[in-house]
Amino acid sequence: MSTPAPVTVIGLGEMGHALATALLDAGHPTTVWNRSAGKDDALVERGAVRAASVEEAVLASPLTVVCLLDYDVVRTLMSPAADALRGRTLVNLTNGTPDQARETEVWATGLGADYLDGGIMAIPSTVATPQAFVLYSGEERHFAAHRETLEALGAATYLGRDVGIASLYDLALLSAMDMMFAGFFHSVAMATSHKEGSATGFTELLVPWLTNMAQVMPAFAADVDADRASGAEPALAQGLDVVLAGTRNMLGATRDAGVRADFFERSVAELEKRIAEGRTAYTGPDAVRALRVDPA
Ligand code: NDP
Repeated sequence: MSTPAPVTVIGLGEMGHALATALLDAGHPTTVWNRSAGKDDALVERGAVRAASVEEAVLASPLTVVCLLDYDVVRTLMSPAADALRGRTLVNLTNGTPDQARETEVWATGLGADYLDGGIMAIPSTVATPQAFVLYSGEERHFAAHRETLEALGAATYLGRDVGIASLYDLALLSAMDMMFAGFFHSVAMATSHKEGSATGFTELLVPWLTNMAQVMPAFAADVDADRASGAEPALAQGLDVVLAGTRNMLGATRDAGVRADFFERSVAELEKRIAEGRTAYTGPDAVRALRVDPA
């Protein structure tokens, strides 16, 4: 293990503060900068160096990690430090879209900087714990050069040369989480429509149910990759008619519970269309194709 390398953190909001803390805890000489004063006080007490400007902060380390509100803020804030970035590495852990990542890479490399984009799969309290992982994309040699430092934030996971793929996977993972929570609240609204229903009691059943069902995902994923019907270990064993009957029941019970049913209205319509087309089974690849705007 080599001597911990110097690193700069720009943006000391909830997440940036956690990142800087993790780097300090791992022994990295850490320079920090934040727009509003005061957010660096605790970090300086732990040994961080407070930079007087973004430029000074960038000059202090070969690697600068930024974690800000959005990509516009990143560009606006970093532009005056353009000269300082030349020959240094910028790792942008701000949440953004794949295209924003690609545009920012063009901008940063145009300045002579090495650029990596990333997505943090953690909340501030889990940064640097075994639960945390951080996705990275861009030039692999830039990742390799700074991997040891980046591991201080959580398991550093390199996804590929296209700098947009970390954002894509980050937003896809967040989409799954959002829809899981949407499903949770939908089911709680149904369960608590009953006079004896309780969100707490219902959730005691829901968590093990969803945990068990999540085990099916790798089989679905293998089916999608192979673009084949569910194989020896069928991910979805029911025929389309059985799936439609069950989905109609969910639609009916949702309506009866006085809960918005638009999701199931769309599902029923989709399944009816497939049956009308003569299909008999519903597979992982079918489910993914049904979501494509252009399914061709
Ligand atoms: P905060 O609101 O806590 O922090 C936002 C940061 O951006 C602050 O440092 C703020 O500075 C700075 N900022 C905002 N506007 C400007 C501006 N115009 N000029 C200069 N600085 C500005 O957000 P988080 O730390 O929670 O989030 C930061 C990023 O981390 C986001 O992209 C978020 O999606 C991502 N993230 C956050 C997670 C979380 O659980 N919090 C989880 C995973 C990712 P100031 O202090 O001066 O306002």
